[in-house]
Amino acid sequence: LVSRDFHPEPTIVEVGPVKIGNGLPPVVMAGPCSIESEAQMLASARVVKAAGAQILRGGAFKPRTGPHSFQGLGVEGLKYLRRAGDEAGLPVVTEVMRIEQLDDVCRYADILQIGARNMQNFDLLKEVGKRRHPVLLKRGMSATLEEFLAAAEYIVAEGNGQVILCERGIRTFEKATRNTLDLSIVPLIRKMSHLPIIVDPSHATGIRALVPVMSKAALVAGAHGLMVEVHPEPEKALCDGAQSLTGEGFATLMGELSGLLKYL
Ligand code: PEP
Ligand code: MN
Repeated sequence: LVSRDFHPEPTIVEVGPVKIGNGLPPVVMAGPCSIESEAQMLASARVVKAAGAQILRGGAFKPRTGPHSFQGLGVEGLKYLRRAGDEAGLPVVTEVMRIEQLDDVCRYADILQIGARNMQNFDLLKEVGKRRHPVLLKRGMSATLEEFLAAAEYIVAEGNGQVILCERGIRTFEKATRNTLDLSIVPLIRKMSHLPIIVDPSHATGIRALVPVMSKAALVAGAHGLMVEVHPEPEKALCDGAQSLTGEGFATLMGELSGLLKYL
């Protein structure tokens, strides 16, 4: 179902007024890794909106590597995200980790994010496939292209065709970056599938200074959009501060991207 052989026309994912897919300008989703407070979310929404992002991100349920790290604000965080998105006029995306969280996440969010660690949580995939919210499916850190598309197939097979794929870096022997951004998957997916594919250079690199250049590289490779972590005060972030752009850094990047788009 996700293959171009079966479905030659590109899928356009629609989130309110925002459209993502082939033939459309790339869509930028931006915001902090985690929702930390109402004030932090409102400030994030204002800076990303002012810089031209079309979708606001923020995690309320966080899949942290260790149990002692900040686990997210849960439903309280979803409310802050919704309020911030509404105030800025931006649709919002947030991760759902478990089936039991789905009703709350659907109530407050416009896009359901499936994180890398849950890419093969088949029960969760089937359940989001039964909903009508668009889904942002992140590539598992050790998933092959075939496994990535098979995970998307689980969602589409349940009736939800509104799936956006997201390359967020894979595990390799290289330790200089948090993950290895596998950009060649972008043109491959464009050829094999009708689903839109976006790139997350923040989790792929883990390094703020690399985010702008890899964002540009992603658009050159044909990505239909980007997901970028932005924090009003990255040094105070409870999660992923080292890879988060400041509001100013993000505004600079957005200016550079619009310059680049003239050549693409
Ligand atoms: C995230 O986007 O906040 C996240 C946890 O990403 P990933 O699932 O790609 O690690
Ligand atoms: Mn993060």
